[in-house]
Amino acid sequence: MIPATGWMLGAACAREGLRDLPWTAEDTSPADRARMARVCAACPVLAACEVSTVVTETTAGFWAGRDLTVWPESSAAVAVQDTLPGLDLPEQAAA
Ligand code: SF4
Repeated sequence: MIPATGWMLGAACAREGLRDLPWTAEDTSPADRARMARVCAACPVLAACEVSTVVTETTAGFWAGRDLTVWPESSAAVAVQDTLPGLDLPEQAAA
């Protein structure tokens, strides 16, 4: 099922003067991300945008106040990690 996209008509990131921010760029600066986060915080469709990122399993770009880009090397690092740092699995703690 393709999610509805009518909410995008109210997107702050589509407004003149804001649409040119690097919403889908791969190399954003901390200042760029901070500015985009401020735009998202005041966006009238923030909640719908957040839901959309979950439904569509978005893995690239800056959406709903966050950089959702998943880099291949970070995915590999997560895949080999058994648990969160400092949290031992019960069988490991007993050994
Ligand atoms: S929350 Fe941010 S990314 Fe989502 S529509 Fe609004 S301005 Fe755009």
